[in-house]
Amino acid sequence: MFRRQREAYNANMKLTLKELIVEADRCVACGLCLPHCPTYRKTGSEADSPRGRIQLMRAVAQDILPNNARFNEHIDLCLSCRSCENACPNSVNYGALMDTSRALFVQKKGVFLSLTKPFVRYRFLTKALTWPIWLMQQCKLDGLLKHFSPVAKLLPSIEKPTSWKPLYSATTDKKGDVSLFLGCATSALDSQTLKASIYLLNKLGFTVHVPPRQTCCGSIARQMGDANEATKLTTLNQSSFDQSMPILTIASGCGAGLCDYLPMHKIQDISAFLINCDWSDISVNSMSERIFVQDPCTLRNVQKSHSAVYALLQKIPNAEIIPLAGNSQCCGGAGTYMLNQAYMANNLLNDKLTAIKTSNVAILATSNIGCSLHIANGLREQNLTVSILHPVQIIATQMGYSGVI
Ligand code: SF4
Ligand code: SF4
Repeated sequence: MFRRQREAYNANMKLTLKELIVEADRCVACGLCLPHCPTYRKTGSEADSPRGRIQLMRAVAQDILPNNARFNEHIDLCLSCRSCENACPNSVNYGALMDTSRALFVQKKGVFLSLTKPFVRYRFLTKALTWPIWLMQQCKLDGLLKHFSPVAKLLPSIEKPTSWKPLYSATTDKKGDVSLFLGCATSALDSQTLKASIYLLNKLGFTVHVPPRQTCCGSIARQMGDANEATKLTTLNQSSFDQSMPILTIASGCGAGLCDYLPMHKIQDISAFLINCDWSDISVNSMSERIFVQDPCTLRNVQKSHSAVYALLQKIPNAEIIPLAGNSQCCGGAGTYMLNQAYMANNLLNDKLTAIKTSNVAILATSNIGCSLHIANGLREQNLTVSILHPVQIIATQMGYSGVI
């Protein structure tokens, strides 16, 4: 009976319980993924390695081990960075194993989580929440927010909340149509990158559609093991976007979630789309600066588009594009991980801050808002001044983007 109930619940998830066991069985325990796993590198514990976690998931799925606090700890400590999946010679689908295990065995519950769901699901509520934050920042009262929530210390200086139009027409000879995925965090905290993206796409001849009913990608809900909420968000997005045109994502965390759960739609990271456009009539002003690039795990391991960021930035004359040392290791941001697993998140962040200091970084390009918020917070705490920008914002500025569309 218990097993049947669990399988019924599985209808909302990527794998069924049986499929989880079959997928876990595909791991041949070779250990080639171990050196790529940030948590294994830090703890040295097999239970915090991909191979160990897969064994644990299978054992709990087969009722060989209990689903107890120790099991939860090892699952919670996983960043879902999917470096292991990238390294696996047997192509074990670690992401699906982890999403399914979280939904089946490690669901997070609580009044706070229930209260926040509508603010993530409905864009008008997300926007309503950003108004008081913006106003408090304008009145220099944002320090007060930090007393109410640890999330507040991550907040960047935000723009006045934006009302997005459903359509932004191409400003040159039209070459096509694309949809833009806003993302809950990006639209609330980094509207400048969204505006820069629209500016750039319009200039390259693309009409940009911004479907008003689109919602969060569902990655945070999945990380919390809330498969029902994640499915609701996926269904909303599925019906909001036109399948015939590319859906461009700005934050790779959203892009990865959409690629996994909206396989019938043409999801693409914006940099990967832009490098294949016709740039022959576009002039880009030179910039004699070193631009360091941080590769988000989701862009590198899931969307596999990290090289597009370098190719895009190389279109800026005189700019020197340099990968940040240690790019293959997660920064520790990882969605809500930076809040729920602060010790490990800060341990990994320190490695990034060391790389930034060692290379005297002044400009850091990153394609994921989660990485950007986490690294910026670390830099603030160490009184370091580094401009952290989305690559699209950097190149759009060199093309004349002034913050207004
Ligand atoms: S590399 Fe793949 S097959 Fe080998 S231990 Fe890791 S997950 Fe298992
Ligand atoms: S997803 Fe990342 S943290 Fe989790 S097991 Fe794989 S490599 Fe390790």
